Amino acid sequence: MKVRIDESRCQGHALCNSSTPDIFRLRDEDGHAEVSDGTLAPALEEKARRAALGCPEQAILIEEDQAPTPRTR
Ligand code: SF4
Repeated sequence: MKVRIDESRCQGHALCNSSTPDIFRLRDEDGHAEVSDGTLAPALEEKARRAALGCPEQAILIEEDQAPTPRTR
């Protein structure tokens, strides 16, 4: 899973950072959220989903991993 912030939507409410500081930081310059490279350890995935549901601007975007495509002959 990957998580990223839609910067055109983020308004800096900081709810994500308050609830899940191990994923979301706030930038010093404008207080908007940021994530590192966005790749999450499995133990953090459910926290990221909950933060996305709680973001009032729907600015947290979750990309679920694709299931491997079965090989055909
Ligand atoms: S991602 Fe959502 S909850 Fe987090 S600072 Fe931006 S608007 Fe607020």
